[in-house]
Amino acid sequence: MFNSRTKIKALLSSEQTGQEVTVMGWVRSFRNNQFIALNDGSTNNNIQVVAELGLLDDATLKRITPGASLKVVGQLIESLGKGQKVEVKAKNIEILGDCDPEKYPLQLKNRPTLEYLREKAHLRFRTNTFGAVFRVRHSLAFAVHKFFNDKGFVYLHTPIITSSDAEGAGEMFRVTTLPFDKTPRKEDGTVDFAEDFFGKSTNLTVSGQLEGELGAMAFSDIYTFGPTFRAENSNTTRHLAEFWMIEPEMAFYDIEDNMNLAEEFIKYIIKHAIEHNADDIAFLAQRLADEEKQLPQDKRSEFGLVEKLEFVLNNPFERITYTEAVDILLQSPAYKKKKFEYDVSWGIDLQSEHERYLVEKHFKKPVIVTGYPKAIKAFYMRQNDDGKTVAAMDILAPGIGEIVGGSQREERLEKLEERMREMHIPVEDLDWYLDTRRFGAVPHAGFGLGFERMVLFVTGMTNIRDVIAFARTPNNCEF
Ligand code: ATP
Ligand code: MN
Repeated sequence: MFNSRTKIKALLSSEQTGQEVTVMGWVRSFRNNQFIALNDGSTNNNIQVVAELGLLDDATLKRITPGASLKVVGQLIESLGKGQKVEVKAKNIEILGDCDPEKYPLQLKNRPTLEYLREKAHLRFRTNTFGAVFRVRHSLAFAVHKFFNDKGFVYLHTPIITSSDAEGAGEMFRVTTLPFDKTPRKEDGTVDFAEDFFGKSTNLTVSGQLEGELGAMAFSDIYTFGPTFRAENSNTTRHLAEFWMIEPEMAFYDIEDNMNLAEEFIKYIIKHAIEHNADDIAFLAQRLADEEKQLPQDKRSEFGLVEKLEFVLNNPFERITYTEAVDILLQSPAYKKKKFEYDVSWGIDLQSEHERYLVEKHFKKPVIVTGYPKAIKAFYMRQNDDGKTVAAMDILAPGIGEIVGGSQREERLEKLEERMREMHIPVEDLDWYLDTRRFGAVPHAGFGLGFERMVLFVTGMTNIRDVIAFARTPNNCEF
């Protein structure tokens, strides 16, 4: 009868004491042959199990080592010691699984580094840091669904395998069952994908947007939340080859409605995490503060993690145009002192150093940039009347850079086709997409939020590999 156990989080907040309880978990520490700190992942706080002297024989005592799993039956009592309200006075302790201290990778004298734990990602959930990170991640994911569900959005599962490249950027993972050694070729020597599994060339999706737009043209409001794949060879702390993206798509929305929704959404999920994971966020705030103590004064953040999140919740995001952003950069001391690696002029794609200057140095808060030059943005973005810019919006967050990319979509068929031809997008392949502009087209808009970048922001972690369970990055696909 394993299911009669009580989770540690519930025990620790129990109003009642005196009753018999069953608790199970993994040993975090064992002191004085008497006090076991037990954790079951429901919270970072351990329950103290007291094994009175004489309860266990020597052989059993030796097996209570960090990482070993236990089933404890005992009485929940008010704690005699400091630091916890209640503890379990054990009547019976059963060792479910031993853990050899000589071999256990988390049995370290010094606090393991995040780099070390990345290599032990199969066990790192058992540490306080990753326990907190992944409970917060869960909470954010739950809040995503709650936010959209409460607004009447339909959760649409767009395909993982596709034959279209939504971004036109070409950084895709190919999906094929063709043999490598005897690849079928056409007369001109190119690979004959007619012989492939789907009878055409296919890849893993880089975005669910195009299919999402089809949904919005029927349900009004949809969102997708699923894995996305990009074979971009950028080994940064912000890019993964496999990441999760949330992509809402709304009919009867213009760019301003789109910005309002994105801002409301971001604030909502942060608030949800603060309300439901206060302990974990407090732990992560302390972790960050400790980590920053190692840094020189000028590299440390002005705010702690909790203050940063509260600040974001309580202040409107700054909204500026791309043209204004470029002007600010050109006027900046950083530009004048030639501190930027990349040059600044109207027309450039803002580099991460520019984005970070805007949010961290200039505005010191999230910034929404609109009206990007059409040449640096995707074909489906709505063209503005100036003939130069599109109704795009990127949201930039302190410490992260771009967290959201979105736009009002081009709903005018001729304009869209013209742009596709200019950008060499095969119009015939996307005939199904163009149908939405032929049959009852409406103004519509949407955006994509990179889920891991959001988790970074809320947890204060600094490397994206530490907020996804098993990171996929160039030259790395363990587990
Ligand atoms: P970046 O310039 O940072 O590479 P992008 O312009 O390629 O981003 P979009 O195509 O607009 O990004 O994707 C929407 C969102 O998905 C981004 O705002 C970001 O939050 C997230 N994102 C994009 N690429 C990655 C990646 N490789 N790993 C994790 N998140 C990503
Ligand atoms: Mn990119």
